[in-house]
Amino acid sequence: MPRPIQATIHTEALRHNLARARLAAPDAKVWAIVKANAYGHGIERVFEGLRGADGFALLDLEEAQRVRALGWRGPVLLLEGVFEPRDLELCSRLELWHTVHCNEQIDMLASHKTKVAQRVFLKMNSGMNRLGFTPQRYRAAWTRLNALPQVDEISLMTHFSDADGARGVAEQMAVFAAITRDLPGERTLSNSAATLRHNLTTAAASNAPELQVACDWVRPGIAIYGSAPDFPEHRASDWDLQPSMTLAAKIIATQDLVAGATVGYGSTFTAEKPMRIGVVACGYADGYPRLCPTGTPVLVNGVRSRTLGRVSMDMLAVDLTAVADAGFGSEVTLWGRAANGATLDIDAVAQSVGTVGYELMCALAARVPVVVQD
Ligand SMILES: *Cc1c(COP(=O)(O)O)cnc(C)c1O
Repeated sequence: MPRPIQATIHTEALRHNLARARLAAPDAKVWAIVKANAYGHGIERVFEGLRGADGFALLDLEEAQRVRALGWRGPVLLLEGVFEPRDLELCSRLELWHTVHCNEQIDMLASHKTKVAQRVFLKMNSGMNRLGFTPQRYRAAWTRLNALPQVDEISLMTHFSDADGARGVAEQMAVFAAITRDLPGERTLSNSAATLRHNLTTAAASNAPELQVACDWVRPGIAIYGSAPDFPEHRASDWDLQPSMTLAAKIIATQDLVAGATVGYGSTFTAEKPMRIGVVACGYADGYPRLCPTGTPVLVNGVRSRTLGRVSMDMLAVDLTAVADAGFGSEVTLWGRAANGATLDIDAVAQSVGTVGYELMCALAARVPVVVQD
């Protein structure tokens, strides 16, 4: 018998969430972001649910090869572009579009020998200060690229630092709009948070028509995996998103505690009165964060309960006080959807350990068996 732990990828939820992103940006084409092995889900496992996208965007050339190996002939975009000159050969061979964010990448293109010109996305650093040309240098980079025979179409791109928060996108939008106003080419600006929270075209046009930016492509990642980009201001269900990953395990032992008994390494939880606990076949070696404190939400038989004490490598403990019928073999949902249909937001679990749903999904350990559900 394998250990009773399993992750489930929900194909129908991926399809639903992708449709939800389209609804939020009806005039745009949609990149499904599948970097980090599709946010920990597995590129091959999400492909069926996301093949309705207009393109796949990712970072890693090996992942791009896997998307092509699945038979995808549409657009594939490298979000950080190439890292060394020979990557450009693979871009030619696999017909990958790639981001150009620095002069070194333009140098590589200029000395690249190719018969087929490549499509590039020129990235502006409009304020986040991660990747891209500053507004002052952007047009010079565009002019340089435009003169290269190695380059075909140039699209324009930026990325928001605060689409999920109070600062919003207006400042960065204004910078991008002003610098790119008369440049040709498709535009792409929005991640999940910007796609759901900010209707860029309308918002900008309503008070300053000169700031209107066509959004030809949106770039949702976390939303298509059913997590709210702006939790706790919104929950996934507020955005009509469904969890695309469930992590579930079973209870492999129960213990009856007397008042004063403690649980787990370091005895960090002490029972105040007699209680029953379940020991679950899930630990930090499965990707469940060790730092989740007592009280982290779980579902036991689909009923909300909480973890108790420290998470260990292969096990954690849960409170069975409110779930009298639970015992050996009962289902414990760490995040996602329970058999009775109840859901536990991955965002709520992440919040209790001070992180975001992204990190939990991406950290799902290789030892956890994964099944793909239609
Ligand atoms: C990861 C990433 C996205 C997707 O971000 P989400 O917050 O997951 O929607 C979009 N654009 C770029 C450039 C990215 O790196």
